[in-house]
Amino acid sequence: MPNKPQITLMDTTLRDGEQTQGVSFAPSEKVSLAQALLGRLKVDRIEVASAGVSAGEQEAVRKINAWAKDKGYLERVEVLGFVDHNRSIDWIVGAGGKVINLLTKGSENHCRKQLRQTPEQHIENIHKTIDYAEQQGVNVNVYLEDWSNGYRDAPEYVYHLVESLKDRKIGHFMLPDTLGVMSPDEVTAAIGDMVTRFPALSFDFHPHNDYGLATANVMAAVDAGIHSIHCTVNCLGERAGNASLAEVAVVLRDKMGIDLNIAEEHIVDISQMVESFSGKFVACNAPILGSDVFTQTAGIHADGDKKANLYVTHLTPERFARKRTYALGKLAGKASLEQNLDEMGISLSDEDQKKVLAKVIQLGDSKQIITPEDLPFIIADVLGSNDAARVMLIDCATFSPLSGKSSVELTVSVDGKTLSEKGEGNGAYDAFARALDEILIDYPELTRPKLIDYQVHIPKGGKTNALTEASITWELATGRKMTTRGVHSNQVVAAMYATLKAINSNAGELVQ
Ligand SMILES: [Zn+2]
Repeated sequence: MPNKPQITLMDTTLRDGEQTQGVSFAPSEKVSLAQALLGRLKVDRIEVASAGVSAGEQEAVRKINAWAKDKGYLERVEVLGFVDHNRSIDWIVGAGGKVINLLTKGSENHCRKQLRQTPEQHIENIHKTIDYAEQQGVNVNVYLEDWSNGYRDAPEYVYHLVESLKDRKIGHFMLPDTLGVMSPDEVTAAIGDMVTRFPALSFDFHPHNDYGLATANVMAAVDAGIHSIHCTVNCLGERAGNASLAEVAVVLRDKMGIDLNIAEEHIVDISQMVESFSGKFVACNAPILGSDVFTQTAGIHADGDKKANLYVTHLTPERFARKRTYALGKLAGKASLEQNLDEMGISLSDEDQKKVLAKVIQLGDSKQIITPEDLPFIIADVLGSNDAARVMLIDCATFSPLSGKSSVELTVSVDGKTLSEKGEGNGAYDAFARALDEILIDYPELTRPKLIDYQVHIPKGGKTNALTEASITWELATGRKMTTRGVHSNQVVAAMYATLKAINSNAGELVQ
């Protein structure tokens, strides 16, 4: 059996990723990320800075290099530098570095119009910079900036540039699709050509994602014989960003059978680290990384999973130290509920499960977001309900200005009869209580017990959109204490439900 092809990954989150609009890593963040990328995620190489940026940047690179040297990783830490004869190399050496990624012009247009040099002048300057790097013991890789356009517009220029450098000691010739303009077919043809023309050289591909094709282009590049791929965590990078490390790693492994060194189980935790340091968050539905991508919302999927893992693919959450979850909402079925109950170690009778599911679907229908964490509240709410409720909430609009009284317009049904009343009070709940008392004045057996404690909770770990639970403790006329709960996304409405439960069960107690 032939060996699986080996592809190495170069992560440039700390250099190209930092070119994302509004992103600037603090020196200590750069050091932590470099350690996480090489030490935990096992990326093959990292590009950590542009030479010459600032003293703070150089200090961060110095710390990364000191740590990397200690771990034996020094030759895997790279810094972007320029054809400036000695300045970039001096900067890198000053930071204890060992590798320059030398930015040369990969398109004749850039060479003539931006540098205002002939190709021969540019090539001569590149050689001088490489000479100096060699004297200083710095390894050289070469970027062919804007190679994708340069190759399309004037391939002879690109051939000539590589030809003139091919006998130098250059580790990687790095081919950027700087503006993210290539399609997979174009990548296959262009990289195939480069690799065939210069079989002794090692080529890297540096894709950008302007057309959303970065990952597909990586597949094409690997097919064409590329040796190494550049990517960033969370797709960070200028405009639409670079190729996503998570997607590249998983696609190369699963779809192309490539051997990689990446430790997949750290992809998500390092993505979260980059999110918090960069302030740029991945979309909920971003492949592998998004918060929702291992959540089944449809009851039928949960049912299939419970019976025989029918909806499980090779892309399992466990690979990334994540868990599959089953959303609760209007599409949830019995199986989604059962999966969640199993997870929490709760067992309910069929009858109670039906009641809980009906409540979940009812809440989901009213566009409330329900998470598994809300489930204990819903269970407590439903199982504590009195089926023979005499007073039921139909509608309630509340208005609470910052200063002055709150007001409500309340509609309830009492024994099936719809009754409305307005109320004012010291806060929305007080206004509700007064309106309700007014409505119930003709029903002496339906009285509101004395409120002695009132607490509002959201589920542990819940966010601002979590359901709230109002838990109210009452003292009945008999002196007995009773606690009722109400659940709703609006905490005042949750308290209304808790209050009506108290009135309904108090009435039941009086009748008994
Ligand atoms: Zn780039």
